[in-house]
Amino acid sequence: MQPAERSDTADSSDALRDPIARLARTRHEFGEHGGVNLSIETSSTFTVLEAGRLPDIFQGRSGPTGGCYLYGRHFNPTVLALSRLLAALEATEHAYCTASGMAAISGSLLQCCDSGDHIVAGQALYGGSWALLHDFLPRKADIATTFVDLSDLSAVEAAFTPRTRVLYCESIANPTLRIANLPALARIAHDRGARLIVDNTFAPCIVSPRLHGADVVIHSLTKFINGASDIVAGCVCADGAFIDSMYDLHAGSLMLLGPAMDPRAAYEVATRLPNLGLRIREHSRRTLACGRMLQELGARVVYPGLPSHPDHALFERLANPGYGGGGLLTVDLGSPDRAARFMEHLQNRESFGYMAVSLGFSETLMSASASSTSSELDEKSLAEAGISSGLVRLSVGYTGLLEDRLAQLERGYRAVSA
Ligand code: PLP
Repeated sequence: MQPAERSDTADSSDALRDPIARLARTRHEFGEHGGVNLSIETSSTFTVLEAGRLPDIFQGRSGPTGGCYLYGRHFNPTVLALSRLLAALEATEHAYCTASGMAAISGSLLQCCDSGDHIVAGQALYGGSWALLHDFLPRKADIATTFVDLSDLSAVEAAFTPRTRVLYCESIANPTLRIANLPALARIAHDRGARLIVDNTFAPCIVSPRLHGADVVIHSLTKFINGASDIVAGCVCADGAFIDSMYDLHAGSLMLLGPAMDPRAAYEVATRLPNLGLRIREHSRRTLACGRMLQELGARVVYPGLPSHPDHALFERLANPGYGGGGLLTVDLGSPDRAARFMEHLQNRESFGYMAVSLGFSETLMSASASSTSSELDEKSLAEAGISSGLVRLSVGYTGLLEDRLAQLERGYRAVSA
């Protein structure tokens, strides 16, 4: 694989600690005819000039470097071009994209773990990731997970076994918005010979987990990075050896399980990356304003950018300056019924946003986590993770005038709190 502009990511100057500065320094990929946009390479297979080339590629002696592509499930030039940008964004040596965020998560975990191995993971995780770890991997692959409260570092240490290969967390957890203490978690994992894998889906630009010790950084590109709620995709950002191992013809999880990203999707995502930083700043600005307003009304709000957040000081230490506290907040309405009425009022009477799962869209998306994206967790696990039945997660969009949105939100909150 080609390096992701190694000189950029290895540069420790302040500017290059900024994800958008790193993106801007990454080689611009022109279109086939000199077009300012990247070309889409749609071919699923690639020719070679000499017959000897194919065995070279199969034996790993030649690869995408120098234009030697093999097959679309292996490496595709358009997907590779997007991947280079994502590696720059996340300050990793390499990256590669997948057909979904879940494919990136399952592929990374399976690459690190063999049957009989063990994972330590945070209690609060996206429901699909939780089900993968809690149900699927033990049943299908004999890979067990111990879930812990990541803010209790001695509990994290105690959960390790001699077979622990991965410490897995979300930088900003879904949906509790608790912040992972990445430097401390990296130290614990590395002291025990394990990798720290971080799902950074909630915090692109905001947190750069690699700079705090993470070995592998994952995104569901479906969310903020694509930002248009029209593509399902994911990526794994890591060092070159790890990415290459996932595409090994004999033992690579992504090569053999095959969740390849379509190059047309790669093109679309690549065209939206240049405005990611602007979008994130605006998501954050508006989410902070919504959080402040709800807090003034007496609502139980959780938002990393508010001093009332339990990990606010940690967040301030880890966050890249200038991108704010992110585009998600939660408000606990106290019961599923009030949560439902709050969302229905906001959608059906105020046109404030949509009742829908997912996040990172231009419009506001609202969901009651316990009965939707965290419904995979059993009652006890929901309670341990701190996900109450009245908790509503808002992914705050940036359409409309902020003052109108605040007025709508205030009316929605007052309608159920009277
Ligand atoms: N990670 C997080 C934090 C998520 O919220 C989600 C989906 O909601 C995923 C991963 C899974 O991503 P995808 O739907 O792209 O497979």
